[in-house]
Formats: sequence, C-alpha cells, structure tokens
Amino acid sequence: MSGVWGRLLWPPIAAALAALILWPLFGAVSALLFFGCVLLALWLRHAMHLNALIRWLQSPPGTEVPEASGVWDEVFSVLYQSGRLRSTHQHELSAVLERFQRAAEAMPDGIIMVNQAGQIEWCNPASEKQFDISNQRDQGQRLSYLVRQVQFTEYLVANHYGEPLVMKSARNADLTLSIQLIPFGDRQKLLLSRDITQLERVETMRRDFIANVSHELRTPLTVVGGFLEGFAEAGQINMEQSRRHFQLMLDQTRRMQGLVDDLLTLSRLESNQEKISDETIDITSLIETLYKEAVSLSSGSHHLNLQIDTDAKLKGNERELRSAFGNLVSNAVRYTPEGGEITLCWSLKGQEACFCVQDSGIGIEPQYISRLTERFYRVDRGRSRETGGTGLGLSIVKHILTRHQGRLEVDSASGQGSTFCACFPAHRVVRDKQV
Ligand code: ADP
Repeated sequence: MSGVWGRLLWPPIAAALAALILWPLFGAVSALLFFGCVLLALWLRHAMHLNALIRWLQSPPGTEVPEASGVWDEVFSVLYQSGRLRSTHQHELSAVLERFQRAAEAMPDGIIMVNQAGQIEWCNPASEKQFDISNQRDQGQRLSYLVRQVQFTEYLVANHYGEPLVMKSARNADLTLSIQLIPFGDRQKLLLSRDITQLERVETMRRDFIANVSHELRTPLTVVGGFLEGFAEAGQINMEQSRRHFQLMLDQTRRMQGLVDDLLTLSRLESNQEKISDETIDITSLIETLYKEAVSLSSGSHHLNLQIDTDAKLKGNERELRSAFGNLVSNAVRYTPEGGEITLCWSLKGQEACFCVQDSGIGIEPQYISRLTERFYRVDRGRSRETGGTGLGLSIVKHILTRHQGRLEVDSASGQGSTFCACFPAHRVVRDKQV
C-alpha cells in the first residue's frame, strides 16, 4: 500500500494491531475502547480538515491555504496548485480576449456580431459611427429595426453571403458603405462594413474623366472625318474651298494635340510623387520671357504691362513653373477682349512671393471660382474652345503649385476682370536684395 491509501489506512491498522496486543493484557473491553478512541480521534481530525477545506473553497480567491497535516496537507497542496493553474489560464484567456476586443475596436472597418435571431451581440466603434448604433445601448436589439433601409433589410434576410451590398448611409448621405455578411459559429453572423466613399469618388472621377476625354476628342474627330469623307466623295477638288477645309482640319488637329499634351502633362505631374528638384530659378527673366510671348500671342490686341517689384528668386522646377505661369498668362490673353489691359507682376507679399496676372477681361462669377481647378471645368465653354482651351490649364497650375507648397489665389468679378496669383511660401523664396 502506498501513497494516499497507505497514509489513510495506516493509522486505523496500527490502532487495530495495538488493540490486538492489548487484548490479552487488559481484556477485550479495554482493547476495544482503545481502538474506538483512536478511530474517534481520527474521525475528528478528518472532520476538522474537511471543515477547513469547505471554508477555504468558499473563501475569495487568494485566501491563504489552511494549516494541515498528513494526507490533508497533500489535498490542500493539490487543490492549491490546480487553482493556481486555472487562474493563470483564465488570466491568459482574458488577456487574449481583451487584445482581440481592442484590435476589433481599433479597426477602421465596422464589425457587428448578430445572433441567429438577427439581434446585436456586440459591435465595434466604427460600426457605431457608420450605423448610428451603440454597443452598450443596443445589445439584444434587432439590427434591422435600428438600420431601417429596405435594401439593407433585404440583404440581411436574403443570406447571400457572396456579394457585398453597396449602399449610402441613411445617417450621412455622403458616406458610401460596402457591407458583407459572414456566417460563423452557431448560426451567428458577422456583419463587416467598410467606408468606400473615397473609392467611389475616385471611380466617379475616373468615369467622368473618360467621358470628358472622349467628348473632347469626338468633336474634332467628327469635323476632320467629315471633311475627309467629303474629299473622298467629291468628283473634283475645288482648291479655294479645300484650302479653307484644310485650315479647319488643321485647327481641330491642333486642338487634339493641345488636349493630348495637357493630358500628358497632368499624368506626368500626378505620377511624379518624387520631391521636386530645388534649383534656384531666376523668376524675373522667366517672367520677361513670358511677357514677350504674351505680346506675340496678343498680336497687339491688348495693353500689356510688366511690373517687377522684387528680384527674389524661387527654389523649384523651372519647367513646371514656366508651364504654370504660362497657363495664367495665356488665359488672361484668351479671356480678355480686344483693347483690354493685362499686367504681369512679380512681388513679395509678407513672407510670400507671388506671381500675379491681372486682366480687365470677362471675369468670373463668384460661384464658379471654387471649381476652376477641376479637370475640364469651364465657365464659358464656347469661348474656351474657340480660343484653343482644353479645360485642363488651371488643374495643371494647381498641381504644380501644390508640388511647390504654393497656392493659387483668384480674385474676379464678372465683367470686371480677374487676378490670378501663384503664391509661394518663404522657404521657397531666395532673396538677395530688394529692388
Ligand atoms: P481652359 O483651357 O478652358 O482655359 P483652364 O483650366 O485654363 O481651362 O480654365 C478653366 C476656366 O476658367 C476657363 O474655361 C475659363 O472659363 C475660366 N478662366 C480661366 N482664366 C480666366 C480669366 N483670366 N478670365 C476669365 N475666366 C478665366
């Protein structure tokens, strides 16, 4: 006999043996009395330890282990060890759960756990914002009662787990959500919601862009195609008429060429995420060149002025700045009727340096000003096309200025002319001396 059994049975067996020895010496009564007393003492000892065990088990975790001896010492020790092991596992489990919950809370996507009856079991903060629900308040509520949108309710009951549902948020019409149901566990569902507003915007921009480019190309192509068909069908060629047609075809071809050039410039600017080179550019001489070009573009139709108030130079990319400034100058010439006045000015405004083009042209109504830098946006479509505009010039200007940490300022009033200023921050300005 070994271990617990040995330690449990050894005292009564020893008492029985002692009683057998006492029997012939003191008689049967004394021997049995002795044996009974020993059993009683043993029973009392076990009862005391059992009582201590029950009280210890009922006491709060962490209570000190009661003093014990013999087999009871081992019982307490085993229980204590397994209790400690269980509590370590519990701590580890709750740490894992807490980490999981914190990760789910930090996720930018919404997560809602729904039971088989469609009631919310748990949801994270992102979903609270997207659906205007609350994890604390709405647990146990039916999700379809809280998000009252027909397409959403239909999606929930349809159980089509493959395709996500794309819908506008009822709470905020600017928010587009992609919603996906995933079955898990015991007939529970996980509802994942992702804010795809930006993606949708990009997709709309892409569609609009393709439609705009196609539209811009279709008109000149139709004109050129029409003339070419006419030539093919004509029996003989009238040279005088053909010359005019060739000129028109040439104009349309130049228009397409201009559009393709501007598109390539925009694409180059957008795909070039590198930091721009920081060459020091002599802006005064750049503006003088642009002034000469404006004089030739205007061919004597406008009064042109040049005003250089500073010899400050700029750190940046010369080719890009030339293109941006050139766009502003050519717009002023194109949108100023004959006899108007155009002034090119280079000056310091506080810490900034600005290149401004002021004209006395057709001007722009205030409500259109914020949209001028959108691709293909034109206030006056007819005039823009007539003068060879592509609707991309100011988008190019904006891109270039942004790459130079600069900004475009527009001040204009319909019929009273406009001032477009490209302003650059102090860290781009190189100042030797004031003029
Ligand atoms: P576009 O090639 O049509 O000129 P831009 O992007 O350069 O395209 O300009 C966008 C629109 O802003 C123009 O179509 C025109 O309506 C308006 N705009 C730009 N510059 C001027 C200006 N100096 N005066 C009046 N309107 C202007």
